[in-house]
Amino acid sequence: MSASAPPSEGLRVAVSKGRILQEALPLLARAGIVPSVGPDESRKLILPTSRADVSIVVVRAADVPTYVDYGAADAGITGKDVLMEYQGDGLYEPLDLGIARCRLMLAGHAGATATQGGRRVATKYVHTTRRFYAERGEQVEVIRLYGSMELAPLVGLADFIVDLVDTGNTLRANGLVPLEKIADISSRLVVNKAALKLKHGLVRGFVDDLRRIVAGP
Ligand code: AMP
Repeated sequence: MSASAPPSEGLRVAVSKGRILQEALPLLARAGIVPSVGPDESRKLILPTSRADVSIVVVRAADVPTYVDYGAADAGITGKDVLMEYQGDGLYEPLDLGIARCRLMLAGHAGATATQGGRRVATKYVHTTRRFYAERGEQVEVIRLYGSMELAPLVGLADFIVDLVDTGNTLRANGLVPLEKIADISSRLVVNKAALKLKHGLVRGFVDDLRRIVAGP
């Protein structure tokens, strides 16, 4: 895919809103990249930074791969869960940033088992869930939701959910339990394949800076 947008000047980085942005900002700061206005203080959608050649766009997690795949951003930071679900092929994923760690879990009512008869699974991770069951040779009905997956088993919409779990508090508070881990999740740096060629020095430098920072003391 990746019919490209006209390349921006400099390096544009798309970052997931929320927890990932909060945890990515200190890493970016150590690479000398600090937004000139705080993302919460401004309604600006493109944030200039302390580096004249770098700007940041803050977007919904699931939109980060799209911006990067189409070349509207040269690089992006988003969760592995989002990347597993994304269908495009214009992205390189050179670096695990090790932030916003959690697990993608199959969960359900306490006492249920992962292979029990109930066969409806609610999730926003439809492709990943289908793949998970296909690899086990099992058939399920996958119901797409956009949020509050934990509600689905409580109201009889689904038998199971597939969702991110961190502390497990949200599951517990709703009488649900984790049943099986699908994947360990953390945030990844992705880069547009064309930008890696066309803006090689800039993109490579950014990836190398972050690699050093992540590996460092
Ligand atoms: P917890 O109650 O700590 O297990 O967190 C579960 C809730 O937080 C669920 O609604 C998840 O979708 C969300 N969540 C947990 N970890 C992350 C993460 N790394 N990124 C985004 N959402 C998360």
